Amino acid sequence: MKNKKSNTNPKNNSTYWIYGLIISVFIIFSYIGNGSGFSGTKKINISTFEKYLSSGDVSKITIINKTLAEVTLTENALMNEIHRDVATNNFLGQRNVIGPHYNFEVGDLELFQRKLENAESSGIIFNYEFRTIENKWFDVLIGFLPLIILVGLWIFFMRRMSGGAGAGGSQIFSIGKSKAKLFDGNKDTKVTFKDVAGLEGAKEEVKEIVDFLKSPSKYTKLGGKIPKGALLVGLPGTGKTLLAKAVAGEAKVPFFSLSGSDFVEMFVGVGASRVRDLFKQAKEKSPSIIFIDEIDAIGRARGKNSITGSNDERENTLNQLLTEMDGFGTNTNVIVMAATNRADVLDKALMRAGRFDRQIYVDLPDVRERKEIFEVHLKPLKKTKDLDVDFLSKQTPGFSGADIANVCNEAALIAARKSKKSVGKQDFLDAVDRIVGGLEKKNKIISPKEKKTIAYHEAGHATVSWMLEHAAPLVKVTIVPRGRSLGAAWYLPEERQIVRTEQILDEMCAALGGRAAEKVIFNKISTGALSDLEKVTKQARSMVTVYGLNDKIGNLTYYDSSGQNEYGFTKPYSDTTAQIIDKEISNIIETQFKRAIGLLKKHKKKLEELANYLLEKEVIFKEDLVRIFGERPFEEKISQEKK
Ligand code: ADP
Ligand code: ZN
Repeated sequence: MKNKKSNTNPKNNSTYWIYGLIISVFIIFSYIGNGSGFSGTKKINISTFEKYLSSGDVSKITIINKTLAEVTLTENALMNEIHRDVATNNFLGQRNVIGPHYNFEVGDLELFQRKLENAESSGIIFNYEFRTIENKWFDVLIGFLPLIILVGLWIFFMRRMSGGAGAGGSQIFSIGKSKAKLFDGNKDTKVTFKDVAGLEGAKEEVKEIVDFLKSPSKYTKLGGKIPKGALLVGLPGTGKTLLAKAVAGEAKVPFFSLSGSDFVEMFVGVGASRVRDLFKQAKEKSPSIIFIDEIDAIGRARGKNSITGSNDERENTLNQLLTEMDGFGTNTNVIVMAATNRADVLDKALMRAGRFDRQIYVDLPDVRERKEIFEVHLKPLKKTKDLDVDFLSKQTPGFSGADIANVCNEAALIAARKSKKSVGKQDFLDAVDRIVGGLEKKNKIISPKEKKTIAYHEAGHATVSWMLEHAAPLVKVTIVPRGRSLGAAWYLPEERQIVRTEQILDEMCAALGGRAAEKVIFNKISTGALSDLEKVTKQARSMVTVYGLNDKIGNLTYYDSSGQNEYGFTKPYSDTTAQIIDKEISNIIETQFKRAIGLLKKHKKKLEELANYLLEKEVIFKEDLVRIFGERPFEEKISQEKK
């Protein structure tokens, strides 16, 4: 795809013009300063002059500024062969009768004057006069010289600092301009939703944005407010940029793309002015889409570590972004899409209504989605007929869309290196190996053994929560890595204001189910349960110290709703009580862990079936659980309880 530079403003060429001007001014001054060139005089030395003077060739001498003498010859002398050089005008080729013809340095003026007087008294006829030429321009130039040098240096460093990537000499005037790349919806952007494989949920959400860009009046007529921004959250390479481009391509609108770090420069105020410029450009081309990749570069929560100055600059940039987003009304038809892989570090102000009020999650693809992505990227390849795409997608757990695109490309290169006619299975496997080698460094890839552990862990959660009356029913389990966790289970929590002891205990038991499954199946436990343990420990602690749900401690709470003892320099209980609390917390957790183990041992067959199914599919839903375990016996009761 060809990218067009957005720098289409006419100022660009004028920079060359200015360089040219500076250079020509220098040349002109150096001519004037010399006192020669234009007048076409020839430099001689004083003894040559004396020779001409005594032979009567000189008609006039003009002494300029007491240092330089200009000599005009007599008409007769001009006929002489030795003066042929100066007899004709340099430029026009005519006879130069008027002069002056020669110049020379006077040296000691008094001595020179005496020589002239001597010559006069010996009967040679000539005139001489003194003249002062104030070469103001030259003085002005000398005065400005340091400044010119400084400006030159400044230009030089500017070009260095702004990266200078191919944009020629335009940086000096465009430092405050946005560096956004523009993809014109009608010409360049040919990405459509067809090019985005998988990501059904995300696509569904952005379709609305496309709709709005295509026919805004449909929405505004009813008084509806149009989203101004959407935040795409997901790991690198999962297709966020692709999705945003597809939105622009589908809606056939211009697409401004840049990275959050492009705003940040060493100079104060640059970021903010770039934001301003970006929005100005986008508004001119509206309807349009602005895409800011890696928005965390500017959008991090403000006010933290604000010791260094660079942070202030970032805050200014962020503030400007917020102002711009607030500033344009819904009728400007500019939609801002931003991407990040860490929504948690972003400033809360960014998520407020009227800004990035939509968050769209773009997850790593599961087997089925990987197959679709493979199909997109296999299309342009010449591959062997029997290539098994299912097999390829199973071989690439944890791969992102970008990784898969990479695999396809790499496979083609490998096949070409072997001078094959088409790309075959082995080429793909070699490519996968190569990419895995690169990915392992990034600590993202999962070995088959790890995958098995994760599958059992998640299956453990699922099984236990299925079997317990008060645990939240499960909707979805996945072993596709997500953010920093390796797998995840989604539950549908009941909305309840008051939680009973057995409900908390059941939830804790389900949370411990993952680790319990590892113990039951492998008789080993792993570090994979950190967040489970954190959750359980917090729950147990608050049971004992906050809600008064523990017999040993009794109906007490150490919770202080006034929040005045926030820093907790002193504990509100004695050392003995502290020991009891610790013991009770550990008691509660151990009891639930044992309970989970008991449950899983009892249903070990089903646990294994579920884990294997999960290994194969990577994502399973409630229906699959029903198929394996049968209907959940408590469902009825819960819905009755709610009434
Ligand atoms: P991100 O912006 O999330 O880091 P990109 O959108 O830049 O990722 O994706 C990089 C490349 O990976 C894309 O240009 C595309 O070739 C490929 N890719 C990623 N996700 C998908 C997908 N869902 N379908 C097809 N190709 C994808
Ligand atoms: Zn877990």
